[in-house]
Amino acid sequence: MRPALTDELIAAGRWMAAQGLLPATSGNLSARVDRAQVVVTTSGGDKGNLQPEDFLVVDIGIDGPPPSRASAETPLHLALYRRRPDIGAILHGHSIASTLTSQLLADGGRIVLSGYELEKAFAGVRTHEAAVEIPVFENSQDMAALAAEVSAGVAGAPALLLAGHGFYVWGESVADARRHVEALEFLLRCELEKARMRR
Ligand SMILES: [Zn+2]
Repeated sequence: MRPALTDELIAAGRWMAAQGLLPATSGNLSARVDRAQVVVTTSGGDKGNLQPEDFLVVDIGIDGPPPSRASAETPLHLALYRRRPDIGAILHGHSIASTLTSQLLADGGRIVLSGYELEKAFAGVRTHEAAVEIPVFENSQDMAALAAEVSAGVAGAPALLLAGHGFYVWGESVADARRHVEALEFLLRCELEKARMRR
């Protein structure tokens, strides 16, 4: 595995923690090593201060409980990598904006972002006139069921939200995923502020 890959995830964790996206040791980060394996953060610990030993290499094909040191949410990462061969990295965080918008503003199992210039930060979006749909799923502690549900409902999306929980954001590279996190956070904060202004 390229050390650069874990270095990129370590830097992403530091950056996300500085933004308040990984409170209280929450969140987990992963990247695709090759067609068969990903590297993923271990359970617990401060993701703002990751060390090289805080990562595990896991087979993408594992369909069941993750290895013992792996995060409980590893099956969700693996399901996304299996479903979407274009995904090279996944960043999962618990931000205020994603936690609240997913609870309060989801309509028909999704949040539609439209009319925002910053939508163009998402790969493949060329105009603010496009509508970017972010699927929203009910939170669950049943990771196997959640992984199956999520993998069936993320075609084409750049991210998903778990209601009252947080965001999963991905990209072809760690850098792309970071840009998508920054854009999604900005846009969800806009949605929250918009809802407040309309009251
Ligand atoms: Zn989580």
